Amino acid sequence: MGQRAFAWLWGMLAVVLCGIATPASARDYHLGDLLCVGGAVSASEAFDLPAHALDCSTTRFANRSPFLRTHADVVGLVPSGEGALFWQTDPSSFDSMLLLFTYDNGEQRLVDVDPQMAARNWFVRTRFSVPVPEVDAELVAIDAVIERPRTYATARDVRLVAVVEAMKQHYSRSLVYALVCGLLIAPLIFDLLFLRMLRSRFILWHMGLTFGLLGFVYFNSGLVFASFPDFPLDARYQLNTLTLAFATACAVMFALDITEEGFVAAGIRKVLIALVTFMLVIRFAMMLDLEIWRMNDYNLYLFSILPVSIALIAAIFCAFKRGSRVAIYLLAAFFPILVGGVIRLLMEFTFVSKEFPIDDLLFLAMVLLVLGTSAAVGDRFMVLRVERDRARINALKMQRMAHSDALTGVANRRAFDALERIEDGQALIMADIDHFKAINDAMGHAVGDAVLADTAGTFRRAFSDDKSARIYRLGGEEFAVVFDCWDQQTLRDTAEAVRRKVDGVKRRREGDLPNVTISIGGTLGRGRSLARVYEEADKALYRAKQSGRNRVVISG
Ligand code: GH3
Ligand code: MG
Ligand code: MG
Repeated sequence: MGQRAFAWLWGMLAVVLCGIATPASARDYHLGDLLCVGGAVSASEAFDLPAHALDCSTTRFANRSPFLRTHADVVGLVPSGEGALFWQTDPSSFDSMLLLFTYDNGEQRLVDVDPQMAARNWFVRTRFSVPVPEVDAELVAIDAVIERPRTYATARDVRLVAVVEAMKQHYSRSLVYALVCGLLIAPLIFDLLFLRMLRSRFILWHMGLTFGLLGFVYFNSGLVFASFPDFPLDARYQLNTLTLAFATACAVMFALDITEEGFVAAGIRKVLIALVTFMLVIRFAMMLDLEIWRMNDYNLYLFSILPVSIALIAAIFCAFKRGSRVAIYLLAAFFPILVGGVIRLLMEFTFVSKEFPIDDLLFLAMVLLVLGTSAAVGDRFMVLRVERDRARINALKMQRMAHSDALTGVANRRAFDALERIEDGQALIMADIDHFKAINDAMGHAVGDAVLADTAGTFRRAFSDDKSARIYRLGGEEFAVVFDCWDQQTLRDTAEAVRRKVDGVKRRREGDLPNVTISIGGTLGRGRSLARVYEEADKALYRAKQSGRNRVVISG
């Protein structure tokens, strides 16, 4: 129904948001392609490596030495008059870092990089920043020695950025990321409201997914340093990747749980859970910081997300093919993040330029993911509620059917037996049609049935003014009525009125039904058990039959 409208809205939203994602600044001067790399077992040895001994080939970043040395000639890279500069790199952690800046007058400045100093110079979206020492000469070369970086990106994704530019971006970016966080908080509130009305596990997974992404945006963008300037760099790195792993795992469980029963094959489900487990194991193994994993564990972790994503999209697509309603929302929700992930991978293999604003695209994709999955939650919520209400109505109907007599429409023996006791202020009358067998024998069972239904109708009319009265057919041609009544006289009058009404029925349908009479036995309940009251009323009925039929006998 609303799915076509959703698809249109979704397309428009994606286009608008992509338009807002501004490209990276032109005043970012990338050093990655200029870098030559070497390695040694100590910082001084690494610095002593002559520039011509460094590796400038495409495989240069595969160097696994404990101290990585990089060298970049930056002559003419930054236009003069750019002002104060930041040297920036990927912020994953490392053991120590030394930077050597060389100027055209022969001056050199060595900076011992304290990770917290660089984190304090962190502007939102921009990176781990080290101020370039200001010397009245042109910068010609930058040498870096990094001890045990966690990822190659720390040595490779290096740039020079004008400080003014970094600060300018800081304000607009803080606003954008605050907005992103706001967009992620809103679905959490909706989830809580949904959860109050429908206890479904997929709502919990959705909260986990949203919460994980919220954490990722907070740590990855650097908003964390805006609120806690002394937050440890390594803790940010750990939380950054942990929140992503958490969000990914929740996303998978969410998709599996929210998809309608039977639309995801059991095999695919198992594969997905195995892949997620594998990803989590790798993520936690990273914490061990094993030597043989060094600089590969992070990439392995990123790559372990890839099969999860592919299997997830495949599972959703299969569900879509099988006609799953919720899969349409999931496809729309996961598509942008899939595209973002593929571009991010292509960048890793340098098929896509490093200038591509991938962070922006990924954050946007995350917002779209959460909004799209929220739409899925909303839709599924409505469907499940309708199903639940229908089931409740059916249960009520079944219960009513189980307690009513099919032939006459009044309550049946089962309902009568459920009474347990007849209260003080209530009375029971038992009525039995006189010589009913004769009617059956003379005119057939069908006429007998019609007489039963007709007599039940007479009972209903007799008690139509009494809201407390409940009429039962106990079996055969025997009826019972329980109604509010405090004294013998009223009981007798009521029973007498019913008897007369049955006796006095003038057949509307021209003689096709015989006239019948009933005998009635009645008694007051006085708060006794049903069995006792029933026995007494039955005895009274027996006496009514004995003393000639078509009469009322009240017990006591
Ligand atoms: P009495 O005045 O002593 O009550 O005589 P009776 O013939 O009414 O009593 P009896 O209990 O001997 O006969 C009841 C008859 O009711 C026997 C059975 O064939 C008939 N009966 C029981 N249930 C049904 C029913 O659902 N439909 C029809 N048509 N007859 C039924
Ligand atoms: Mg009878
Ligand atoms: Mg009988």
